[in-house]
Amino acid sequence: MTTHAHGTLGLIGQASIAIGRQSGAETAELYQTSLMSALVDGVYEGQTTYGELHQHGDFGLGTFNDLDGEMVGFDGTFYQLRSDGSARPVVDDQKTPFAVVTFFKADRRLALANVDKAAAIECLSAATQENLFTAIRIDGRFSRITTRTVREQRRPFPPLQDAAKGQAETVLTNVVGTVAGFRTPAYAGTLGVPGFHLHFLTADRKSGGHVLDFEIDAADAQLCPMHGLHVELPQTENFLKAKLNTPDMAQRITAAEG
Ligand code: ZN
Repeated sequence: MTTHAHGTLGLIGQASIAIGRQSGAETAELYQTSLMSALVDGVYEGQTTYGELHQHGDFGLGTFNDLDGEMVGFDGTFYQLRSDGSARPVVDDQKTPFAVVTFFKADRRLALANVDKAAAIECLSAATQENLFTAIRIDGRFSRITTRTVREQRRPFPPLQDAAKGQAETVLTNVVGTVAGFRTPAYAGTLGVPGFHLHFLTADRKSGGHVLDFEIDAADAQLCPMHGLHVELPQTENFLKAKLNTPDMAQRITAAEG
């Protein structure tokens, strides 16, 4: 670790507060439908509804059938951010080919101030376990945040890294909002996006998407480690026939979601 990193962590560490889980309390479970590798391979239609997902979490991220935008959810409400710039609460019968949710319960808080994405990721990495899945929520003011929103796709579906080329990118400055996402262990690299996968929604609930880059002015991060993992695998023909174990899969996931 560099000297600079130590300085950053030292500064942030002072503000870190362990909330402490009550003994005997249930630990959080990550609930996921399908696999990131399947999404990357073009499996853009699922049978799972957001109504079903509400039963497994009040927080999370994902997408929609036909890749019609990004989902970000917290405090029990899921939002759909579409490439035309619109944002709306998700309706229960909307379906998804890929989503990750949990019932968010913070067990640690971290103050982040004047950090870019790299420094923030370093702080969040140090405050979480590399072998556990962790849900991460960041509320605050961002001096700059760049997001993308995938565009609705038509058949025949292209692979995700091609579909992502047509994505709409937005740069917001001096904006207040909430980041919701997950840290996924490297060993689960084709289940989800290895490392940090974050989505964003502005406080006015009008803009956001998949987070590409950011600079935090001042924010409060909450961390929710998860010891349970439930993955529902689709029964669709497209999933059953998808090529999920190609040698370049990790690279394709990074290209599409990194
Ligand atoms: Zn995403």
